[in-house]
Amino acid sequence: MKYKVSLVWIRRDLRLEDNIALSRACAESEKVILVFIFDTNILSQLSSKEDRRVTFIYDSVMELDHELRSCGSALVCRHGDPVEEIPLLAREVGADAVFLNEDYAPYAIQRDKKVHSALKKIGISSQAFEDHVIFSGQEVMKKDGSPYRVFTPYKKAWLQKLKRENYQVSNRSFNFCDEKSLRKYLKTISLEKMGFIRASFVFDFQKPGRKNGLKILKKYTSQLKDYHETRNSLEGGTSGLSVHLRFGTLSIRECVQASLSNRSEGSAVWLSELIWREFYQMILLQFPYVFKSCFQKKYDAIQWSDNEEHFKAWCEGRTGYPIVDAGMRELKATGWMSNRLRMVTATFLVKDLLIDWRRGERYFAEYLLDFELASNNGGWQWCASTGCDAQPYFRIFNPIRQSQQFDPDGEFIKKWVPELEHRSKKEIHYPLSGNLELGESENLNHYPGPIVAHDVQKKLALQMFKKVSELT
Ligand code: FAD
Repeated sequence: MKYKVSLVWIRRDLRLEDNIALSRACAESEKVILVFIFDTNILSQLSSKEDRRVTFIYDSVMELDHELRSCGSALVCRHGDPVEEIPLLAREVGADAVFLNEDYAPYAIQRDKKVHSALKKIGISSQAFEDHVIFSGQEVMKKDGSPYRVFTPYKKAWLQKLKRENYQVSNRSFNFCDEKSLRKYLKTISLEKMGFIRASFVFDFQKPGRKNGLKILKKYTSQLKDYHETRNSLEGGTSGLSVHLRFGTLSIRECVQASLSNRSEGSAVWLSELIWREFYQMILLQFPYVFKSCFQKKYDAIQWSDNEEHFKAWCEGRTGYPIVDAGMRELKATGWMSNRLRMVTATFLVKDLLIDWRRGERYFAEYLLDFELASNNGGWQWCASTGCDAQPYFRIFNPIRQSQQFDPDGEFIKKWVPELEHRSKKEIHYPLSGNLELGESENLNHYPGPIVAHDVQKKLALQMFKKVSELT
């Protein structure tokens, strides 16, 4: 027997196509209504009123509404606490069931539990589906049923488990409620009314909406074959799809299909990256303490530096290490940084400034347009050598060598640190020298001298990690 009316609660799955909850609702219901809630619990935590994520979501939601209207329906939007709004709306529209896709962030898990139980109390059924990942955090396990702690065997098991049906894109057959009967529930919500202002996007791949996501995927599919060679570039060598995966303007199945249809060395490496994304989601689900602590618990005993001046210099891109400063300035100005630069800047905070990785993790969470708790936490713990499958603590990036290798002509540095424009290709990778005191500026354009000496800090970092390692 079919439900008469079902509500589909759209969250980080901002698309109609290949949306599991929506397909299932359409198959099991006579009429389907889509709702999006601008969640005040999340929005009230954001420190900037010009948050790019909010603009990205808002514009993608508006595009979704537009698409629904072209199908004769509309998107119901609310601004409030979903724990109250969803049951209220479900009752108002006379829904028999609510369909949604699972969200694995700790806040979302708690929120969804409350929504399911509030709906149950008023006799409305609710179902959540796996949509955001190919395999959820309980599906790829070791033979003894315990979770993997290392990526390579996890990846092997993930690939062995993969069948065509896992990445098949679901059918597009909709039975939406018509706009006329929804009219009394429709409310106009603007960024301004929610207390935000429009943010701008610097790169094409950051532009909101499914249409843009599909355009980027299509364009990048033709470049996938070279991914293994281009993936470390600081600009343009990777897909830029992370934000579309984050907010679901593209589905993971569409990306996996693109990679498998490409059949090249590059596409196989790219698929590995998509598996890393699931690996970190699994880690967060199976080891939820990583949210606040080191995955390798022994490192919780490290005494981190509390040098505020150093932390501020790192945030502002004024450490005196050109590649680090270029990356940090790019992040603040655009909400984006390539994976290579995320690794260089994160490692510098932990191994050169000896500052707690959690402070850097929080800073990235504030600025990254593609911020995803699991990947951000996993990436930070990897760089800090405190995570699962992390780089060993004695392997420490040299920021000068990283710069020489990945920005050989210094073009990226000159773009973000124009104070260094006069420097030659050879000089540009090095901190300013001469008889400078640490942190002092060499010339009138105020680019600072290095706030720390890498060789000295490297030794301190090694001592710090060694001391804790020997305790256990
Ligand atoms: P591509 O290279 O084109 O890869 C395709 C997709 O695979 C990405 O969109 C992403 O979904 C996934 N992916 C790629 N690399 C990784 C990785 N190392 N770990 C997990 N998934 C990966 N990624 C986020 O999505 N959100 C974050 O908040 C985030 N924070 C990070 C913090 C640090 C310190 C580090 C080192 C990495 C972080 N990453 C994060 C992972 C990675 O840097 C980004 O996913 C990648 O740079 C996004 O660019 P892309 O879409 O062009 O990726």
